[in-house]
Amino acid sequence: MQIDILTLFPEMFDGVLNTSIMKKAHENGAFRYNYINFRDYTENKHNKVDDYPYGGGAGMVLSPQPIFDAVEDLKAKHDTKPRVVLLCPQGEPHTQSKAEELANEEHLVFICGHYEGYDERIREHLVTDEISIGDYVLTGGELGAMVVIDSVVRLLPGVLGNEASAPKDSFSEGVLEHPHYTRPAEFRGHKVPDVLLSGNHAKIDEWRRKESLKRTWQRRPELLDEVDLTEQEQMWIESFKNNG
Ligand code: SAM
Repeated sequence: MQIDILTLFPEMFDGVLNTSIMKKAHENGAFRYNYINFRDYTENKHNKVDDYPYGGGAGMVLSPQPIFDAVEDLKAKHDTKPRVVLLCPQGEPHTQSKAEELANEEHLVFICGHYEGYDERIREHLVTDEISIGDYVLTGGELGAMVVIDSVVRLLPGVLGNEASAPKDSFSEGVLEHPHYTRPAEFRGHKVPDVLLSGNHAKIDEWRRKESLKRTWQRRPELLDEVDLTEQEQMWIESFKNNG
């Protein structure tokens, strides 16, 4: 996968893309990335990327020209039709299913805004996706791009050592993941549930599924509306409702 990041602050990404799993994924060729400082595409004398808003008001607005030119240059260079993702608090909330969808693409371009926002024509005529990482406002799109890139790259083939783990993560099957325990079997008087030490894998799977549903019911009950539950699972949910 090719990932291009349009940003005025490329140095912000180094820690994230040069550490741990992302670093290994890059070294192993799972993805390539490139920063494009769209200031390099400006056609004005002072390399200004923004301007005052028409109609007045506070803040500066990112101009369309450098961003359009940078994206068009990338399309020509790679000869692809990339998904062009605008980070934006007004975008669709990011989800695991969106990460899965983007992980199937060969080329992603991320546009990180700053200041008051973007000229609306970027939104209307250049981008394919607008993504928000939550209902709050950040100073720039870089943190959002990092979040989305991380969520996508970890799904690429070969990136997670344990291939079995990603499909079991929270949200992948529509519910939250079950609790985990590791050694010791008893810590400060708190014991690991007996079933996990039993060696009975059918029982362990059943316990995990039940705990996963319980946790989802406790913390994110609305997720259960979208999940197909067996009769047994529906009975478990009823018992959580009755017994907590
Ligand atoms: N005036 C804009 C508004 O009210 O919608 C907010 C602009 S914000 C200060 C500057 C930039 O940060 C945005 O253009 C966007 O790239 C990024 N940003 C801020 N909050 C974000 C969020 N929740 N998700 C993704 N990007 C965000």
